[in-house]
Amino acid sequence: MVDKVRGLLVGRMQPIHDGHMDVIKRILDEVDEVIIGIGSAQLSHTLKDPFTAGERTMMINKALTENGITPSRYYITPIQDVARNSLWVAQVKMLTPPFEVIYSGNPLVQRLFIEAGYKVTTPPLYNREVYSGTEVRKRMLDGDKWKSLLPSSVVDVIGEIDGINRIRHLSKKEN
Ligand code: NAD
Repeated sequence: MVDKVRGLLVGRMQPIHDGHMDVIKRILDEVDEVIIGIGSAQLSHTLKDPFTAGERTMMINKALTENGITPSRYYITPIQDVARNSLWVAQVKMLTPPFEVIYSGNPLVQRLFIEAGYKVTTPPLYNREVYSGTEVRKRMLDGDKWKSLLPSSVVDVIGEIDGINRIRHLSKKEN
């Protein structure tokens, strides 16, 4: 039996958008299975990290299904941050299935895995000015068009959890 080659993508996915989906599809063109690590899993209910790890799991799962990606080809694992960057790779390895390749455009993630001896691949950016979590959350807050940036199943989850009202409520100033 030939061993499977697995690739790891870690991201906060706040929320998962079409740029992330492009990366996931590219990874699956190169490896047998992708591990999607939900970074900063302990964070939620802030303007930068509005959604819980459970909500993000649901969004990712539905986005992959919508894009026809079979569950036998992915794992979704929440990963909490650790206060010491030098220990983070060990934390990731403890929580995920074994993997050989890391895919990340984040310099800190790249550096930590390079120093741990891993092969790191930088996926090409997919219209980053528009397809970024920061841009999506800004549009949600400002009432601009955001739905076209996400898989429609993720739009549905955000509706189900009343996500837009959460973000707008969190942005209010006490008076
Ligand atoms: P993110 O959701 O912004 O991005 C995830 C990945 O998708 C990145 O590799 C990014 O380059 C890629 N991407 C995003 N938009 C794209 C687009 N339009 N086209 C192509 N690729 C695109 O998440 P992130 O901030 O990179 O997540 C890193 C996570 O790792 C964070 O949760 C961070 O806290 C965690 N981390 C923790 C420690 C620690 O705890 N000490 C250390 C390092 C990293």
